Amino acid sequence: MNITALLIIVAALLLLALIGGCVATQPKLQPISDLKSAHGVVLRGPFNHQDVFELDRNLMAFPPSVIKSISSVSLVYYDYLGPNEAGHCHHTRDICILSGHLIAIWHEAGHAYHFYLRMIKSPFDREWNELSKGLYDPNRYSGDPTYPKDGILSGYGSRTQMEDVAVYVEMIYHRLRMPATDDMPLFSRPEFKKDFRFRAKVNLLRKYGFIGEGDYKTFCKLVRLDSED
Ligand SMILES: [Zn+2]
Repeated sequence: MNITALLIIVAALLLLALIGGCVATQPKLQPISDLKSAHGVVLRGPFNHQDVFELDRNLMAFPPSVIKSISSVSLVYYDYLGPNEAGHCHHTRDICILSGHLIAIWHEAGHAYHFYLRMIKSPFDREWNELSKGLYDPNRYSGDPTYPKDGILSGYGSRTQMEDVAVYVEMIYHRLRMPATDDMPLFSRPEFKKDFRFRAKVNLLRKYGFIGEGDYKTFCKLVRLDSED
């Protein structure tokens, strides 16, 4: 192949890595497990009964459309993931989760459903982008303490639109399903109330089905945000 073609392929791969964040590399699919998920999700790798129970309990957080968007969940060990990664979702919506970190499904399922919306050419991405145009930087330090700001919840979410969405999904479900621990004080920060973009993004997640109606209302009440009718 000539140099131009090679450069185009390298540029395309780089772009995929940039927009993909933790979702950029091909998962190594595991053999299908004998155990079944109560939600009908295809399980791969060395799941035991306790893992399936935990995964199913975590999946229960989501509307059926989000669960249906997941092609498979593989249970994996460290050598399948990058450093500091607890999970990973490929654009085929196959998810890898680190053994012992099944709570990461709340983030990775956000990616899977986002990929599904892209596949059906939903206007979700365009609407979200209107709120965050030019604000992402894949090289930003993921622990950047200046966040939340600009309608973005965390430094990790500020790296790409894909991660921004998944961080919202993860944190909203964390707040909803673990209200007693209240370890998400960022929703109490004044920025969250003052900047309309936070509320606009929560409303988009509801509009496009990342959060069901009941959960949307409960979440708005919990964090004292005016809900839309
Ligand atoms: Zn991610």
